[in-house]
Amino acid sequence: MGQPLFSVFGIPVHVSIWHLLTLLFFFQTSFQNGVEFGLAMLFAASASVFLHEMGHALTSRHFGLQPTVVLTGFGGFTSHQPARRPRDEFLVVAAGPTMNFVLAGCLFGLHAAFAGEEGDTGFAQVLMSQIIFLNIFWGVYNLLPIMPLDGGQLLRVTLRRFVKKSLNADRWTHRVGLVLGAVMAVFFAVQFHSVFGAVLLGLAAFENYRALQNVNNMDADYRADRPHERVGELLRQARTAFEARDFEAAMRFCHQARAEPELSPAEIRHTWHILAISAASVGDLDDAIRFAERVPNSPEMAQVQASCLLSLGDSARIRTFLRSPAALQLTPERLDELRAVSRSDA
Ligand SMILES: [Zn+2]
Repeated sequence: MGQPLFSVFGIPVHVSIWHLLTLLFFFQTSFQNGVEFGLAMLFAASASVFLHEMGHALTSRHFGLQPTVVLTGFGGFTSHQPARRPRDEFLVVAAGPTMNFVLAGCLFGLHAAFAGEEGDTGFAQVLMSQIIFLNIFWGVYNLLPIMPLDGGQLLRVTLRRFVKKSLNADRWTHRVGLVLGAVMAVFFAVQFHSVFGAVLLGLAAFENYRALQNVNNMDADYRADRPHERVGELLRQARTAFEARDFEAAMRFCHQARAEPELSPAEIRHTWHILAISAASVGDLDDAIRFAERVPNSPEMAQVQASCLLSLGDSARIRTFLRSPAALQLTPERLDELRAVSRSDA
């Protein structure tokens, strides 16, 4: 992705050339009101999208999830480390549209104040009302419960909270996304004559269709594995929770599964694997190292140990780790990094 264009509050922001080009395409009619007006609309649209992403980014930074913002095409996205709790994830996702509504509210207040004083419909007034509309539209559009839009993600987190099997929650999320995506695609085409909007929503519907197939396949895999046994169900729930980044639940199911007598060596290995990554994700670094040590000859587990040891900054333990067989699984860069820290207080 290369270097970020700029950083805000320590959050790197990348801007793709497609961002500018797509906005130009969308707001070309604004230039009919003059170049100044067109440029102002372009800037305002970009700023609205940017502030939406900053809503996600600042909230995820608050939870220590190291966000990065990318502005691309008409919109943007914020990537960050997985949230530790469903509640955190909900707040991070909800903060994007909230930012647009707050912005629209503030501008509406200003708009009303100035209209009261001057009472004319000049450049600033028209611009202001269009920016308000834009922000309301962007907030509402993103809240459509269609994955991968914010609304779809909120629906998934909420359903996972209330539906017992998280696989079923995902299934319902994608069913809603598939149907609503298709309906909204037609609506955008007919009502707004927007080919772009229709294609975007149509693609989202298709993505949900594919995700739905994946969920169904995954469910079938687990059933074939261990038809009616308790251990099979526990492992399935552990993996589902793990994939849903519900690490606390994943660890709980893993511990329950480990208590079952008939675990195969492959299943035991899989359980330690989930436990190690989950513990590292929730910040139980010592546990994570302990779990990862149980899986020999795994580059991924060696990597977990290395990053936990680096976070702990314990140079004595790093020196011991460097002499262990697990260190042979690491990349040269990671080894250099560990060696540098191990020498720091030697
Ligand atoms: Zn968003």
